Amino acid sequence: MLQQVMTEPKKIVFREIPIPEPKEQEVLVKIMKIGICGSDIHVYHGTHPFTSYPITQGHEVSGEIVKLGNKVEGFCVGQKVTIEPQVTCGTCYLCRTGKYNLCENLKVMGFQTTGTASEYFAVDADKITLLPEEISYDEGAMIEPLAVAVHAVNQSGDITDKNIVIIGAGPIGNLVAQAAKAKGARSVLVSDISECRLEIVRECGIDLVVNTKSKDFGEAVLECFGKDKADIIYDCAGNDVSIGQAIKYARKGSQIILVAVFGKMANVDLAVLNDHELDLNTTMMYRHEDYLEAIQLVKDKKINLVRLMTNHFSFKQYQEAYEYIDTNKENTMKVLIDVQE
Ligand SMILES: [Zn+2]
Ligand SMILES: [Zn+2]
Repeated sequence: MLQQVMTEPKKIVFREIPIPEPKEQEVLVKIMKIGICGSDIHVYHGTHPFTSYPITQGHEVSGEIVKLGNKVEGFCVGQKVTIEPQVTCGTCYLCRTGKYNLCENLKVMGFQTTGTASEYFAVDADKITLLPEEISYDEGAMIEPLAVAVHAVNQSGDITDKNIVIIGAGPIGNLVAQAAKAKGARSVLVSDISECRLEIVRECGIDLVVNTKSKDFGEAVLECFGKDKADIIYDCAGNDVSIGQAIKYARKGSQIILVAVFGKMANVDLAVLNDHELDLNTTMMYRHEDYLEAIQLVKDKKINLVRLMTNHFSFKQYQEAYEYIDTNKENTMKVLIDVQE
């Protein structure tokens, strides 16, 4: 079978290796689709702080079970699945107390351990989550980013009837907006400086958008929600401007969730954060329950994943996919790799 290997930044090769034999507790998955996300792009550019080369990528994935290890129970050949890419130690404080997304020894497939970008992938059965038949392989590969969004929204507790602002309309911002709406938010406003991304947000059923290139963020919040402003602001952009807007325009005593990953040290006004008793919270990846919730939301047709799919490349075109993303940054949301011919 073929396996993708990034040998150094911007250099992808394919090597021929034997199809792995699943160990006792493993299943063998025929990989169908892989999504490319912002973190993968950092690896491609050599700017991911926690990845070294060579590395096989792939962590947003769907496939079909083709073989079971001797001791695997509860799965069968032919099932449509996705894989949770966190490899955890199971023994640290966080693992012992259920917060394994924060494992002290966390390794993520495609970053610190071999990813799924191969025609077949053997993986521990406990990393497998079943996909219902009505969810396509394309959608299946997007359950991972949706689980990120679901976990982020769940960090704010019950959001029923809350007014929500999302800064940043990239794939994660878009999915946080859709997840917030699906989970009962009263009203959701999304801000960005890309008209194209805001249009996609609109087409995904979010009514309120603002382009902060042409309109002041604070004014837009007042216009949409009145003097009480928003109950929760999610920063899905992760730069000094976005977190600065969140802190400056948040209602006193309200909540800010930092979803995006900062590329460098932030320069923010902690005096205002403090004076306004703002509740700044963060979010890191997801856990199994977020996967289950994400799958249910898609099954219930409460989330539009298809509108986020920009285009497809074949497995051997992995490199072209990145080159395409680099030259079409503004207009690209989710690029998918069709692993099988
Ligand atoms: Zn990702
Ligand atoms: Zn651990």
